[in-house]
This record gives sequence, structure tokens and C-alpha cells, in this order.
Amino acid sequence: MTASGSRPPRVPQGVAVLGSTGSIGQSTLAVLRRQSQHFRVVALTAGRNLERFAAQVAEWEPAYAGLAGGAADAGYPVGPDVLLQAATHPDVDVVVNAVVGAAGLDATVAALRAGKRVALANKETLVMAGDLVTQAACAGGGQLVPVDSEHSAVLQCLTGRDAGVSRLVLTCSGGPFREWPAERVRGATVDQALRHPTWRMGSKITVDCATLANKALELIEAHHLFGLPYGALDVVVHPQSIIHAFVEFPDGSVIAQLGFPSMELPILYALTHPARLPDAGVRRFDPVAAGPLTFEPVRTDVFRALGAGIAAGRAGGISPAVFNAANEVAVAAFLGGQVPFGRISEIIERTLDDHTPGPAAGLPVVREADRWARGRAADYVSRL
Ligand code: NDP
Repeated sequence: MTASGSRPPRVPQGVAVLGSTGSIGQSTLAVLRRQSQHFRVVALTAGRNLERFAAQVAEWEPAYAGLAGGAADAGYPVGPDVLLQAATHPDVDVVVNAVVGAAGLDATVAALRAGKRVALANKETLVMAGDLVTQAACAGGGQLVPVDSEHSAVLQCLTGRDAGVSRLVLTCSGGPFREWPAERVRGATVDQALRHPTWRMGSKITVDCATLANKALELIEAHHLFGLPYGALDVVVHPQSIIHAFVEFPDGSVIAQLGFPSMELPILYALTHPARLPDAGVRRFDPVAAGPLTFEPVRTDVFRALGAGIAAGRAGGISPAVFNAANEVAVAAFLGGQVPFGRISEIIERTLDDHTPGPAAGLPVVREADRWARGRAADYVSRL
């Protein structure tokens, strides 16, 4: 975790929500609605959902509002630059990056360089350019705090303890196809893939959960956030999504963080870490209502995207950016009805097989790897 910030905190803290119309964006605004004494919305950005965005702007009256994917006549500034404007706005203290995909990278880096706290949901940022992102935080005095529930769980287990970590175990619901035979998984429909058993999320991450590519993205994210080698990072299937992560300490003790599946708690913690604020809107934990908690190994032979992503993470350099780009293209093609579910991992594996690994020596190199991988994955989409 990159930390810093010698400025005394402003009260209320100014918040920019990038991707405000999405699942995490809307949950963030729900949290901020209850925490108006402590936070005020300074900037909002969205992609294309003009109707929802206009309603949010009317409610929050932010100092800055931009529609990254909007048309020029939308009545707002448009284009990718709006993310940078919002992320570096002088009245913003905390940037909640809830954009989906590679489009979130530059805003994360710019906010960290400008000394902001980044509450990061956009895991693709760290997967593409983890070292460069953490360097940006060190250089600019920014602070990176995870929103992802598993990483928030790890941070909550570690905060206040200076004991060293020997292993992290991230939990994984297993997705909608956890118990399906391999052949049936290969032919799964979009409708089936979007029916996540425990979480309601945007469509890209929901498909990532069905392929388990999401867990590979999260392991790479954890590697960068907590500075641990891949050998110290494990995954276990936990269908109830109640325990979000386990942290094992050098003496063998294990501490876990629990809660009913809701992103509002990790979002709130990313805003307040290391402090905690009372929040009447968060459902209190009840062990009896949670019911039995079970665990299983991952079926890596069926969900091959996980192994491909871990291999890319271990290779480092530009390889995770190639993995991420191939996955984004394959998932978009699946959602658009161009390829069957079973081809997603195949497109990822083939694109990774074709790339030439190398160091991620600067953002232009990462962007070029991303561009190349999108092109190669798109070739496979049209050929397979
Ligand atoms: P959604 O698809 O619901 O929302 C994505 C947001 O990003 C929307 O506001 C969308 O705008 C905006 N957006 C899309 N493309 C662009 C672009 N090119 N430029 C600028 N903005 C864009 O996704 P989620 O909220 O589910 O996920 C967001 C991120 O958080 C992802 O990285 C995901 O992996 C991560 N995450 C999500 C969790 C969840 O529970 N949903 C849990 C943990 C992590 P619009 O809709 O207006 O087009």
C-alpha cells in the first residue's frame, strides 16, 4: 500500500467519482449520501449514460461534470480528458475510480501524481501498469486504497498490525458455473454468465467472475498493493461470499474479514481508511443468517483464464497488460454474441502465446502492448 499525505485533511473531503453511472459509481453515491458531513461530491464523470448522469448532476451539483463517451451536444465536456480533469481537480481530495477497463489507467496515474487518495475499483489499472502506478503514488504523494472487497479485507486485516505477512488467500464465489460440467460451461449463454450467484455488478466484471479471469486480475492487483510474491497468494472457492480474504501471519495465525456481500462497506472503508465511520446503511453481520460457510479448490482445468492470468502476472513487464487487453476484447465479443463462452479463455491464451514479453518501461510501452494485444485478440475473435 502506498501511503503518504502530510496535508491536514479538509472537512468535508472533496470526492471525484469516475464512472458514477455504473454499479460501483452508484454504490459510492449511496454511501456519500449518508456521509455528507464528511464528504462532498466535487466532480462526476460517466461514459455514455446521459440520462442517469444528468439526474446525478442535478442531485449533486458538482463543480465539474464530464461525459467521457458522450456526444459533443450532450451539454457536458466530452472525451477521455474529462477523467483527467476530474481526477486532478484542485478541490478533490479522494478520487473513486469506478471506470471499467483500461480507460481508467491515466486518471489513476494523474490523481496519484497530483497527491490525491485514489479509492481504486478499476483493478485493470494495477494489472496493466502496477509498478508504474505505485511509482506515480510515491512521486506525487498520492495514496492508493483498494475498493475491491477482497483487497479491502486484506487491508482491514493488516491495518494496525506490523507483523509481516506470509500468505494471502483471496476468496472467490466460483461464479455461476462453479458446479457445471466443462462441456456445458463452454456453451454457456450471455444470460447465464450474467447471473452471478452472490454479487450484482457491471456486465464486464460479471463475465470475468464467470471465467475466473477476475481472480487472476485480483491476484495481480494484490501483488502490487501488498508487495507479495505470487507464491504467497492463493485463491479458494467460497460460494457464500461472506469471508472476503484470509491473511496468514508468520506464526501461522490467520485473520479473516467477514461481511454480507455488499460493495458499500469496502467503498466506505476506502474513503476513510485507516479510520472508520458509523454507517447505518450497512447491513450488520449475523452469523446465523450467514449460514454454513464452505470452501472448495478452484477447478483450474475448466476455468483456464485464471491460470493464464497468473502466468502473465508471474512473467511481469507488459504481460499482464496483454492479458488484460485480450480479456477485455474477448469479453466484449462474448457479450456482443460474436464468440461462445468457451472461446474467451482460448483468445486470452492465444494472444498471450503470441506476445513478446518485455519490461513495462513507461506508460507508452504499456499502451503499445495494450494496443497490440487488442488487435491480436480481435483477429482471433474474427477467426475463431
Ligand atoms: P459498470 O459497467 O457498472 O460501470 C462502469 C462505469 O464506467 C460506468 O459509469 C460507465 O459509464 C463508465 N465507463 C465505461 N467506459 C468508459 C470509458 N471508456 N471512459 C470513461 N468511463 C467509462 O462497472 P462496475 O461498476 O461493475 O465496475 C467498475 C470497476 O470496478 C471495474 O474495474 C470492476 O472490475 C471493478 N469492481 C466492480 C465491482 C462491483 O461490484 N461492480 C466489485 C469490485 C471491483 P456509462 O455507464 O455512463 O457508459
